[in-house]
Amino acid sequence: MNGVTRDPLDVPREECGVFGIYNHKEAARLAYLGLQQLQHRGQESAGIVTSDGNRFFAHVSMGLVADVFKPEALDRLKGRMAVGHVRYATAGSSSLANAQPIVVATARGPMAIGHNGNLTNAMTLRKKMESLGSIFQTSSDTEVILHLMAKSPAREIVTALKDALSQVTGAYSLVIQTTKSLYAVRDPWGVRPLHLGRLNGSLVVASETCAFDIIGAKLVREVKPGEIVAIDHRGARTVAQMPSPSKAHCVFEYVYFARPDSHIFGKSVYEVRREMGRQLAREAPAKADIVVAVPDSANVAAVGYADESGIPLEIGLIRSHYRGRTFIEPKQSIRDFGARMKYAAVVEALKGRRVVVIDDSIVRGTTSRKLIRMLRHSGAREIHLRISSPPIMGPCFYGIDTPQARELIATRMSVEKIRQYLNTDSLKYLSLEGMLKATGRNPKEFCTACFNTRYPIPVEDAGRVA
Ligand code: AMP
Repeated sequence: MNGVTRDPLDVPREECGVFGIYNHKEAARLAYLGLQQLQHRGQESAGIVTSDGNRFFAHVSMGLVADVFKPEALDRLKGRMAVGHVRYATAGSSSLANAQPIVVATARGPMAIGHNGNLTNAMTLRKKMESLGSIFQTSSDTEVILHLMAKSPAREIVTALKDALSQVTGAYSLVIQTTKSLYAVRDPWGVRPLHLGRLNGSLVVASETCAFDIIGAKLVREVKPGEIVAIDHRGARTVAQMPSPSKAHCVFEYVYFARPDSHIFGKSVYEVRREMGRQLAREAPAKADIVVAVPDSANVAAVGYADESGIPLEIGLIRSHYRGRTFIEPKQSIRDFGARMKYAAVVEALKGRRVVVIDDSIVRGTTSRKLIRMLRHSGAREIHLRISSPPIMGPCFYGIDTPQARELIATRMSVEKIRQYLNTDSLKYLSLEGMLKATGRNPKEFCTACFNTRYPIPVEDAGRVA
């Protein structure tokens, strides 16, 4: 998930995670814990903004949650409500100015906003506003929503928000904070997840339910596509429901992004992912002695594959979690150094064996290639690579920073060519139908654009504002 071993320009970037809590005496600390659980959704910057009912307190910085927040910093974040954000730039460049939550002073008072997703007409809107004199502080698409709200003649915040959102298209799961209220908002397609939870007398909002579990909060429900939920002293209530004619939940959340202990789009990520592995075993069996997962993202799919095929699961690859942030390379080159920094092969598990390797996706093919070479050097006799999703054929414009189409290996090569490039004995992908079937939901409710380039939301400006 962390791309330290790859060329930074090579890494398909992750999206973001949002968190909010209302009415808790330790709001900042719980936000911190929640954000830590959402760390896999963004490792570039982290921020928390609290309100004591009159004033905001903010701490936003580049880095991992645990590095950004020290106890003293958290103690300075006073108040019983908080919004938080972890980010990996998907629109706008990677800099502190673009870190979130963004705080602004408006005619309606201060406002903080955290955004997961990506707008697809932000640049068009921004250019229009700039030509009329607006000055933008960041290059992030999120700021466009704030400008649109500021321009709305409506006095009431929900009306202004509705005004603003009626002009934007794209993916957004938002947490918004004023001095006295919290708002949770989801785009009409429901592209990214967003959940409402409860912890005794406190209300909580988070991208994934794993952020509730750590603080002992219980899931109440999903924020519905197109819904604006207001959370204040009266509790949580729907204050607006924008028309939501069709859904486009991101299926890649189930394939790779979301944590397996979360529930999103109404299903357990673990169960869906395991079913993808099972389906893969049915569609693409292999004659092999062991199943090995590319850790950690393919672990659950590998459990499903092993289960369905009856081939035992072995831990043939270990992922290093403790590399730290400094990247010190040896002076003399070591073969496959990048892959070795991230993975280690277990010779005792692999030697002389026919191995089914399960990975969740192939993006550019660079990691997989090194990994396969490593497995061969560790004595694997045959390598049958099985991918628990279809070939990636297009970039995501809704909040996942996949590389451009021409950099995606499957847009340039046939499956057989990819197999040759990776040097495996066989290579098979899960079918689109099989992947959708594994979700156990209506297949029409998913966005599968990265697999079949059918973009359900119009992409006006590819979501890039900078
Ligand atoms: P590669 O084919 O070398 O580009 O990398 C494939 C690996 O990247 C797979 O093991 C995936 O788990 C992982 N992966 C897939 N999508 C992403 C993403 N958006 N960000 C980071 N890693 C990803």
